Amino acid sequence: MFRQSKTVIQKLRYLSFQGQNPSCRFRSTSATERALQYQAGQKIHGFTVKEVVAVPDLFLTAVKLTHDNTGAQYLHAARDDKNNLFSVQLRTTPMDNTGVPHILEHTVLCGSEKYPCRDPFFKMLNRSLSTFMNAFTASDFTMYPFSTQNGKDFQNLLSVYLDAVFFPCLRELDFWQEGWRLENENPTDPTSPLVFKGVVFNEMKGAFSDNERVYAQHLQNKLYPDHTYGVVSGGEPLAIPDLSWEQLKHFHATHYHPSNARFFTYGDLPLEQHLKQIQEEALSKFERSEPDTAVPKQPHWDRPREDHVTCSPDAMAPDAAKQNTLCMSYLLGDITDTFEGFTLSLLSSLMISGPNSPFYKTLIEPKIGTDFSSVVGYDGSTKEASFSIGLQGMAEEDTEKVKQIIVQTIDEIIANGFEEERIEALLHKIEIQMKHQSTSFGLSLASYIASCWNHDGDPVQLLKISESVAQFRQALKDNPRFLQEKVLHYFKDNTHRLTLSMSPDEAYLEKQVKAEKEKLQKKVQALSDSDKKDIYEKGLELLSVQSKIQDASCLPALKVSDIEPTIAVTPVEMGTAGGVPVQYCEQPTNGMVYFRAMCSLNTLPEDLKLYVPLFCSVITKMGCGGLDYRQQAQQMELKTGGMSISTSVNPDYSNMDMYEQGVILSSSCLERNLPDMFHLWSDIFNSPHFDDEERLRVLVMMSAQELANGISYSGHMYAMTRAARSLTPTGELQETFGGMEQVKFMKRIAEMPDLTQVLRTLPRIKRHILNPLNMRCAVNATPQKMSDAAGQLDNFMSNVASNKKERKPVRSDIIERPLDPLAAPGSGPSRKLIAEPNFKPCQMKTFFPMPFPINFVSECIRTVPFTHEDYASLNILSRMMTAKYLHGEIREKGGAYGGGAKVGGGLFTFYSYRDPNSVQTLSTFRKGVDWVRSGQFTQQDIDEAKLSVFSAVDSPVAPSNKGMGRFLSGITDELKQAHRERLFAVTDKSLVDVAGRYLGIGQRTCGVAILGPENDTIKKDPSWVVK
Ligand SMILES: [Zn+2]
Repeated sequence: MFRQSKTVIQKLRYLSFQGQNPSCRFRSTSATERALQYQAGQKIHGFTVKEVVAVPDLFLTAVKLTHDNTGAQYLHAARDDKNNLFSVQLRTTPMDNTGVPHILEHTVLCGSEKYPCRDPFFKMLNRSLSTFMNAFTASDFTMYPFSTQNGKDFQNLLSVYLDAVFFPCLRELDFWQEGWRLENENPTDPTSPLVFKGVVFNEMKGAFSDNERVYAQHLQNKLYPDHTYGVVSGGEPLAIPDLSWEQLKHFHATHYHPSNARFFTYGDLPLEQHLKQIQEEALSKFERSEPDTAVPKQPHWDRPREDHVTCSPDAMAPDAAKQNTLCMSYLLGDITDTFEGFTLSLLSSLMISGPNSPFYKTLIEPKIGTDFSSVVGYDGSTKEASFSIGLQGMAEEDTEKVKQIIVQTIDEIIANGFEEERIEALLHKIEIQMKHQSTSFGLSLASYIASCWNHDGDPVQLLKISESVAQFRQALKDNPRFLQEKVLHYFKDNTHRLTLSMSPDEAYLEKQVKAEKEKLQKKVQALSDSDKKDIYEKGLELLSVQSKIQDASCLPALKVSDIEPTIAVTPVEMGTAGGVPVQYCEQPTNGMVYFRAMCSLNTLPEDLKLYVPLFCSVITKMGCGGLDYRQQAQQMELKTGGMSISTSVNPDYSNMDMYEQGVILSSSCLERNLPDMFHLWSDIFNSPHFDDEERLRVLVMMSAQELANGISYSGHMYAMTRAARSLTPTGELQETFGGMEQVKFMKRIAEMPDLTQVLRTLPRIKRHILNPLNMRCAVNATPQKMSDAAGQLDNFMSNVASNKKERKPVRSDIIERPLDPLAAPGSGPSRKLIAEPNFKPCQMKTFFPMPFPINFVSECIRTVPFTHEDYASLNILSRMMTAKYLHGEIREKGGAYGGGAKVGGGLFTFYSYRDPNSVQTLSTFRKGVDWVRSGQFTQQDIDEAKLSVFSAVDSPVAPSNKGMGRFLSGITDELKQAHRERLFAVTDKSLVDVAGRYLGIGQRTCGVAILGPENDTIKKDPSWVVK
């Protein structure tokens, strides 16, 4: 909820590890220990070791090296984690708005010397078991990371990545496809008008339809106006057509050089092998260059500045009259000063995070705006960091007031400082973040060090988090006014301060369309007839290249036989606590305990359903027992890793017209704090506070704003949820809980002048949901701690026993299924499913007009549940259609940012993301089905789809999440193994067969939804429901 964008703390949240604690390992030569044997000065494959450092906090050994000939920098983090990661980052510092680094990032992935086939990057997605593959363009660097658990796969991917980055083809056709081009609207019709096309061109139009993004971009450009941060590295849509192919190639030559590169590897694979391959395949072919890419210091202003920008009005805004944003941004120190950065990011959390922070009290609680501005807090992603504070969703006339409050609050902080307990809570949070294990530790590490290292800071220093914590404690001890003096220096006395306001302009979109038209006209007017003929021919050429059957045989690939035939079993034990069923799962959780509970909604009256998400988002934030909401927040920060409740709708794995509905309680803590965590839950069960309307209003405004802001980013999710709405019994409920219906409902609540009626609804919901008779629990902890955890859970259950109340389910058709299919009925935990055997799916086409220039399109088809024999074929089919047909049609030819198909919940779902097309994309989906049915695919295509599906099926699961599929959906290891065998068995015949039987027109009921700009075709077509 507290979006401290891009702060170190935010990044730390993901800094957690996967794999065992080395102390409980028997192998004597772990990766971390082996790496400790390297010596400074040692030469390995063209590199020299500079430094070897054990980082016990994070269970890793860091080895820093430099490449002798080119000066390329290298950091290896050896750790006993199978999920190995590679990344290479280049310092890319553009000086104009054409988006050259971003277009280059796309284009290098379109083919290289050794791998000249089109789009090797996307093809590798299907030839590997990668757990992550991507590329990012930041303001001042471009990064190419991948991760995989398979050693052979690592070498394959490394080879493709190195060749792409250092030896790309950069063909003109690739530039047209990925960057921008002029083309006939219909490429096969030379009389159709010329328009701008290109993947990045459309991607950036989509990105700038997000007002939060617009604001963040302006803020950075205006706070650092004098060098690379003054331009849009991703590309200003209308500046993109100023970029030439020659400029793109020049940018590659000057920036993508080893002397400007930083390599990072992570995991348990040996370092020598990586160095050897990187040396042989890339670095040995270069000499040293002197890249001129350093970012100079931003000249310091001697007086603060003010500026104003506009954005498009937001139809979903909780209050249409309050759509202004205002924030003050301060230039801070250089991020390569690690301790200063650490201090400032902690200071930022103290200033803005949670209801106990001064800015929350002075800005959020008076309800002047809906939430903090989208950019808020410490931002260390630029060479010199910044801090921003302000509001969104405010009225224009409050501008002066907000400015005054900010200045006053800073004065108050300087006078009063912070409570010691809040500082302790923050340091506790850091401890938890270091202990909690996630599955993408390598990637978190790579992004954690990227910015500092990019400007020649020391990445190893950044990893020594305990050292920084100790230094911080010492600084506070030496000088109790340590933090206040920082606030005085960086905020009160700082003249490099920007106050930026943003207000909606009714004509914003219109002006954009007009500007694009003018730009287009200027380009077109300059063309001769022969230029136009050229463009038409180039368009046809691109189309024919895109349509050609592609030979990807030059690329390395794993085989289906490289996939593990069986899954690793996750043992769980069933028990009870105070009569409530419990699943216990012993895991190497590194001293953390994870508690989950599923509470059924079966007795909840229908008219309260819409309120459930709101209930979930406020129930842990209103105060409980003897604690007001501030004290409650403080206790949660001091004693837990977070406590939350969310909705859960799970269709049955074997019958689509049966489902379980509930909410999931979820929390974690250090072992020593287990009694405190359960105490907090007891208070929430026994005496939650539902009396503070003002508090509720603050929370409602923030959720409504967050939902409204999310649409332009997650539009495809909303389109998919809506398209599925009338196809299964769960579809309707998913839409109620998380679809456009919920967004509109929250907007309505946020507009209510009086919330007492809502306030009265909450205890009614609570009585139905927090009822131990409707509950089952799950605990993941270390074997040593499990019996203690079970005892604590027993206590908790007896403390909340008074909430037990026999209530009648709303629906009569409830079917009980044991979680363990082999258990005798009634002997263990079970799921209470609602059955709707007479459910009739129906066809619906819904359109939501939106103030964006791009569409999100989805079509859903009702198919079969998880255990059905055809499910595996549909699963492979969705992957194959995405890779072999839909990607090419929707992204490459159509110019959308993405598109594809997926299965789940008994549905086959097509979608597109940030798509310039709308109804045309629907026919593309259908053509995809025809393509499969015509059988124009190969065994290789099927094998690739299988690899791709298995890399998802086998993606690593964190110890905290082991056994959760079984707990929530009853999907046991046996069911998973049976599904696995069906996936292996899928053949070309079964693919053509299921495509015909399920996806053929008229075969099954389907639903369609589009979110996008005003659409004449849809308006004229009465089969559409326009919202
Ligand atoms: Zn992009």
